[in-house]
Amino acid sequence: MVKVGVVAVQGDFLEHIQALRELSGVEPVVVKSARDLSDVDALVIPGGESTTIGSLMRVKGLDAAIVDLAERGIPIMGTCAGAIILAKRVVDRVVGETGQFLLSLMDIAVVRNAFGRQRESFTTDVYVDGVGKVRAIFIRAPAIVEAWGEARILAYVDHYSSGKVGAVAIERNLLTTTFHPELSGDLKIYEYLLSMAKR
Ligand code: GLN
Repeated sequence: MVKVGVVAVQGDFLEHIQALRELSGVEPVVVKSARDLSDVDALVIPGGESTTIGSLMRVKGLDAAIVDLAERGIPIMGTCAGAIILAKRVVDRVVGETGQFLLSLMDIAVVRNAFGRQRESFTTDVYVDGVGKVRAIFIRAPAIVEAWGEARILAYVDHYSSGKVGAVAIERNLLTTTFHPELSGDLKIYEYLLSMAKR
């Protein structure tokens, strides 16, 4: 069994656990403390509110433990708010600098709430390099506006107000999606994460 941890401090971690249950050979692990990370083969940081997830991670001592996992080469996928937390540079479309806590593990710049408010949420197909067509649900999503160093954008979304911006990025063992794979029933991104765990 491949053990996939899901950070469970805030946001839609239950939906990720349910999605992971659909995959054969996968055992989802609820991660609330650093102890829960001891034997995971991959990790998911879910969507939700990135400021809240970031501060709770810090309170629970998960931040250092996740940085340690990343350095050990364990695949980590951040989705939506999770993508924000993995990024090195973050601004909000409206308020600019947020000063929020970040793990700052990936050489990417993201704009929070890049597509507008909740009512501007949308669903579309994105083409992910190495994966193919993926159904993508964007909910108050960030946009990946820059990748440097070893980070690479694997998928773009073309939006009427923000133009063409990054939706998926990868840097070695770190993967981000600005959409919600746990809500679409399309499991291809999880399969990709699992393939990274086997490398
Ligand atoms: N807008 C949220 C944030 O900036 C992310 C939204 C989400 O994860 N669905 O933290």
